[in-house]
Amino acid sequence: MTDKIFTKDEWLERLGGVKGDYKVFVPVKDGDFHMFAPIDSGKKPDFSYQNTRLSPKGLVYPQSERIFEYSLDKQDEDAFIVKEAPKDYAPQAVVGIRPCDAQAFQIVKINFDNKEFRDPWWVQRFESSVLIGLGCNEPCDTCFCNSVGGGPFSEKGLDALLFDLGDAFLVRVITEKGQAFVDKVGGGAEAAQDAVDKAKRLALEAEGRMTSKVPTDKLKDKVVLDLFNAPFWDEVAFACINCGTCTYLCPTCWCFDIQDEAYGKQGDRLRNWDSCMYPLFTLHGSGHNPRDKKFQRVRQRFMHKLKYYVDKYGDGVQCSGCGRCVRYCPVNIDIRKVCARMNAYEG
Ligand code: SF4
Ligand code: SF4
Repeated sequence: MTDKIFTKDEWLERLGGVKGDYKVFVPVKDGDFHMFAPIDSGKKPDFSYQNTRLSPKGLVYPQSERIFEYSLDKQDEDAFIVKEAPKDYAPQAVVGIRPCDAQAFQIVKINFDNKEFRDPWWVQRFESSVLIGLGCNEPCDTCFCNSVGGGPFSEKGLDALLFDLGDAFLVRVITEKGQAFVDKVGGGAEAAQDAVDKAKRLALEAEGRMTSKVPTDKLKDKVVLDLFNAPFWDEVAFACINCGTCTYLCPTCWCFDIQDEAYGKQGDRLRNWDSCMYPLFTLHGSGHNPRDKKFQRVRQRFMHKLKYYVDKYGDGVQCSGCGRCVRYCPVNIDIRKVCARMNAYEG
């Protein structure tokens, strides 16, 4: 598969032309931040962004989803019978997704699609998505994707990767799914050698700029109860206000809650994102709460990402190094420091 080159104007114009075949999502500016929005949302696509504040995980795993529905009307012959709610699995393209967020889908996939369990809704939406990445020429100083198996131009989990060469995009196809999308976009021209060389140089320079290094190599050798009972959790959790920002912004947090809601005679069973940072998340029907203290909830978040996941799946950590939780935690709790502390802890 050869690299293609598009002027930025041509790329944008052609993306608009695939709307009939894919729902196309692109980064747009929304107030002070960026987010993914449909290409025909009326907002101008902006590929000169660093990253979106909210990760694009919601495009595969909606923040709130009607999973089942039922009628509460006793006159209905199927009253109280729970049925699958209609869902939309039309093909969608997420164009301009950063490599850390594409890798995050692979990290999460282990949870939603494994030998024991298969979440039909997550899997179908993931399979109907094509991920067209945008390499990071200027990684943020809070990014550490290169410490957790990724990189600013990593191809992991992507179907194609864009290199921003200034006035043009070089498009590198990675999978057949990516090829089908680029074929549908059409246009462009075969990239000349100088463009390919420039793309390579950009990637090397970006990797050289990654200053955050987070050690994770010893996590798997730690005894889980030693880390669980480590003396630093009170200190780590001290400033946390349990706002849940870190979990909602994180592309690799997957906790949810199931709730029934009734509107008149219509009942809906909803799956909503939830957060392990909230005390109600673990409250049992009996009134007992195994994590009623703040330090227990903060410990849970870090132990889950950096120890339980490591032990259960034996493949990396549950973090893609996007740095969102570092940037947006209102009290500056920094997963890089917590990880280094866990990695170095000797019991
Ligand atoms: S963003 Fe910071 S303060 Fe808020 S729950 Fe997460 S760690 Fe605590
Ligand atoms: S834990 Fe923090 S740095 Fe890691 S993927 Fe989640 S938000 Fe990004």
